[in-house]
Amino acid sequence: MFVHVLREAGGGSRGRSSSSLCLAHCMLEGERPRETPQEAIDMLIGAIDGGGTKLLVGVITEDGRIVSRRQAASKTADVAAYFRHGAEMLADCAKEVGIVVGDLAGVGVSIPGMVTPEGRVLGAPAAGWGAFDARPLLAAAPGFAGVKVFFENDINACALAEMRFGGADGDFVWVTVSTGNGGAVVADGKLVRGSGGCAGEFGHIKVERVNPFPCGCGGKGCLEAHASGVAIARRAREAGLPVGTDARLCEELARQGDPVAMRIYDQTGVYLGRALAAAANLLNPSRAYIGGGVAAALDLMRPAIRRTLTEDALPQCRNLDVLRTHLGYEAALLGAAAVCLEGLC
Ligand SMILES: [Zn+2]
Repeated sequence: MFVHVLREAGGGSRGRSSSSLCLAHCMLEGERPRETPQEAIDMLIGAIDGGGTKLLVGVITEDGRIVSRRQAASKTADVAAYFRHGAEMLADCAKEVGIVVGDLAGVGVSIPGMVTPEGRVLGAPAAGWGAFDARPLLAAAPGFAGVKVFFENDINACALAEMRFGGADGDFVWVTVSTGNGGAVVADGKLVRGSGGCAGEFGHIKVERVNPFPCGCGGKGCLEAHASGVAIARRAREAGLPVGTDARLCEELARQGDPVAMRIYDQTGVYLGRALAAAANLLNPSRAYIGGGVAAALDLMRPAIRRTLTEDALPQCRNLDVLRTHLGYEAALLGAAAVCLEGLC
């Protein structure tokens, strides 16, 4: 991950934004929010989860409740159209709660790739993006002039959300197991970015040395090549299971007691356990949060994860709690809100 936060000039003031709005006031003048807010909540954040296959946008309270939400399939080929679409969706969300984008305290954007402190996307393979400046694309959207915008890599954003909204303490790792594998590291309450912004690349920890499969990074035997959703489906097909490209079918078979499918998930747990053992020995985190679609199968993998942690991690480091994130499908959307709140503080 190459991740940094863009702090716009004047965006570093602490506390409540002068442009923040009382949600109770919004309810008097606008449409009723999707969820009934607490009266005490007053700051509204705009959040854009810019995924490779979907755009998820929302207005979120400062305690992490989504009061308005839009989702659309994303067409990433034209980045200007992509961000314009995200901006329009956010304007619709704001309208739903009776405000305009300029009334939001700020907007957080999670990017499925590398993004610099200036909001320059350096590359996002999941979206097919090379380098471009994302910030001007949003600033050019109607109503966005002068709005504080903060960018972050999506998995780092998830980790920030886990801390702000999920009750995570200051020493944990966040690993996503989805189409690919990503990760983030939090130590002493801060994101660990590394010297070049690459910290937390769990997907490229080597976990298979005997029969290593080629990885998209050019290496072999990476976690992503063996334990991502794509890799699980591939291994299941190789084992003769009729799952196509969908790991969820393999999960269903495992839950029905199919011994081959159960072995696939057990071995996936071994791979995840190897990566987590490396993290445990290096960082001694208290928890590992697992997100992404494959996290739904964590119970199928947990025995193998624990077994592998016992084998590979130091006794002093292996008592790592491995938990499914509470943030669910909206993890990166909540993450975008957390990025904004982090930037405003
Ligand atoms: Zn790799």
